[in-house]
Amino acid sequence: MELNIALLRGDGIGPEIVDSAAAVLKKTAERFGHSIHFTPCLIGGAAYDETGEPLPKETVDKCLASDSVLLGAVGGPKWDDLPGDKRPEKALLGIRSALGLYTNLRPAKLCTALRSASPLKDNIVGDGFDLLIVRELTGGIYFGDRGYREGRYGQEAYDTEAYSVTEIERIGRAAFEAAMKRRKCLCSVDKANVLETSRLWRKTMHALAEEYPEVGYSDMFVDNAAMQLVRDPSQFDVIVTSNMFGDILSDEASQITGSIGMLASASLGDGTRGLYEPIHGSAPDIAGQNKANPIATILSAAMMLRYSFGLSKEADAIESAVDSVLDAGYRTADIIGDSPSAPLTCSEMTEKIINEL
Ligand code: NAD
Repeated sequence: MELNIALLRGDGIGPEIVDSAAAVLKKTAERFGHSIHFTPCLIGGAAYDETGEPLPKETVDKCLASDSVLLGAVGGPKWDDLPGDKRPEKALLGIRSALGLYTNLRPAKLCTALRSASPLKDNIVGDGFDLLIVRELTGGIYFGDRGYREGRYGQEAYDTEAYSVTEIERIGRAAFEAAMKRRKCLCSVDKANVLETSRLWRKTMHALAEEYPEVGYSDMFVDNAAMQLVRDPSQFDVIVTSNMFGDILSDEASQITGSIGMLASASLGDGTRGLYEPIHGSAPDIAGQNKANPIATILSAAMMLRYSFGLSKEADAIESAVDSVLDAGYRTADIIGDSPSAPLTCSEMTEKIINEL
């Protein structure tokens, strides 16, 4: 297979971690007989410095011409005082909307080797957990009508949530498809006891569930889901939910793994092209020091192989290589915990993973 991938290195540790993930992708392609081509593009502060725009048109065009996109991170103190539309972070919304991405996939996996990093007690974490949150990204209350008006108690602000059957169906389908690629278990999270949008959400999900008889389907209210995530996270395989509920639950799920440098994400639209990126930021405090943990970006690259190219074996190989390296006790500084060994640098960790592949 031929893989054409746009690389958006961005700012801070972005270049280090994207180069690591690209090296892992190159090795994986070699091992499995694929040909891979990378197109580097500017984004964020680096793009602003060179072109005056955080998301130059050339970057958007190159991303649209590629099969998929790998992003590091953007932003840093150097660009903090720029006006809103020139700030590096603005490029993130811009590239997501230019690529038509409405599904956000955020896996939260705690492997046994990193059990002590979780803030949850050992008896709750057990042998670890591996769940995926599928969040609707372009609808709901974050995009609804909003403003100020005269209310019963004087001036009030309001935000509105609206979801169409079409929007619910497309995110629902993405979640059922993701569940089919995993342990075939899907929990839809809503607030159908209160919200009309949630009642439509639930009705639409139930209709979709009929099309996926192999997937074990359940509903859960969002308040209960927030509790269940810290009470027994291993009960979940895939969770699908609206934009705002997903925003909150995915941060909660990341937190219970305890290690921000390990968590990948994918944003997908109608086609197979996606945007894959770690959930962390550009970590300006350690930028350029070869200290960053590249694993979140490497796991994002594995998600790309699975979701954009349908290359599950190749994705499994990367994920197993990461697990083996962690099982062998290798750690970067952010996940060193109380280990007596010296932490690996970003490039040493990358090399270990490549050797394992
Ligand atoms: P951050 O995620 O960059 O850093 C938080 C802490 O985690 C820091 O101590 C950092 O050193 C550490 N950390 C993060 N990733 C790491 C890694 N891979 N390895 C080791 N340690 C890691 O969040 P922040 O400090 O709030 O933000 C810094 C900049 O990143 C800001 O300009 C912010 O706007 C931007 N940001 C960008 C994105 C993105 O590009 N998607 C997301 C969040 C924040």
